[in-house]
Amino acid sequence: MKYDVIIVGAGPAGCSAALTARQRNLKTLVLYNAEGAMEKAHRVDNYPGMPNVSGKEFVKITREQLVEAGAELRKGLVQKIMPVGGSFSCLVENDIYEASSIILACGTARVKTLKNEEELLGQGVSYCATCDGMFYRGKTVIVVGAGGESVEEANYLAELATVKYCPERKHDISGLNDSITVIDDKPLSIEKSAEGMKLVCDKSEHVADGIFVIRPAIAPTQLLPELEVKDGSVYVDKDMATNVKGVFAAGDMVGQPLQVAKATGEGNIAALSAAKYIKQAEND
Ligand SMILES: Cc1cc2nc3c(=O)[nH]c(=O)nc-3n(C[C@H](O)[C@H](O)[C@H](O)COP(=O)(O)OP(=O)(O)OC[C@H]3O[C@@H](n4cnc5c(N)ncnc54)[C@H](O)[C@@H]3O)c2cc1C
Repeated sequence: MKYDVIIVGAGPAGCSAALTARQRNLKTLVLYNAEGAMEKAHRVDNYPGMPNVSGKEFVKITREQLVEAGAELRKGLVQKIMPVGGSFSCLVENDIYEASSIILACGTARVKTLKNEEELLGQGVSYCATCDGMFYRGKTVIVVGAGGESVEEANYLAELATVKYCPERKHDISGLNDSITVIDDKPLSIEKSAEGMKLVCDKSEHVADGIFVIRPAIAPTQLLPELEVKDGSVYVDKDMATNVKGVFAAGDMVGQPLQVAKATGEGNIAALSAAKYIKQAEND
């Protein structure tokens, strides 16, 4: 099924965008993953009409509101957005959703990468077991995991390859398949060597055919590598349009001030711009 718009993020910016998208009668899917900044706010006092509201309560009310308005809401980490001939495919764990336009409302998840990780992406480093796992059938891989889906993804890879698992930070790894060896050392960098891909840790080094880095958050440029980022924020114009045609962005991820009222206002503009874009594309 194809949506008019997929909104990545169900914080204030994404929820607001969804409400306006539905007012414009767009077929709307909202995807969210872990808690965003809003759910961490103990109390918000400067949002009109909702005095003394907690962040969690705000998110609960606005998510209920967007579902009542006819948007679909699903939990799942969006791992990759791929432009495909005028529309977009969104990879969400094991599913792919398609839409004519995208609104990014992912907040400001800061992702600290390993040294050389981004440079070696696609050259032995992957962020997506579902997309690239098959290339490593019968080979050896290392999974650098940081929680979320990383244990599940490592178990999936263990069905195809010999897997070592290196926790990037402390998280529950009790669910790891028995065949997986755990590297109990801090990962620092990735290098390409004659023997294969090398994971350099604090006290040890490990070589494999491929290295998968699986974190619960994805940097905007990993989601959609074509995206222009300026000073750490996704670049948008006054219509909340990014440099990628059909992709809009709103909220904390487009920069200061990091405030709820700004996020909802931008979500509203992004949805109106997406509606305009879809209409124009239909008439072209
Ligand atoms: C402790 C604290 C107190 C605050 N107090 C106030 C206050 O009093 N007043 C005020 O105006 N502001 C306050 N803020 C700031 C406010 O919370 C943010 O400005 C606001 O939440 C931004 O909304 P957002 O929708 O852009 O991002 P967020 O609320 O961070 O939501 C981001 C959403 O994106 C989703 N997401 C991210 N990546 C993916 C992915 N790859 N796939 C699927 N989903 C994804 C997350 O699951 C989440 O749903 C506070 C923030 C904090 C942390």
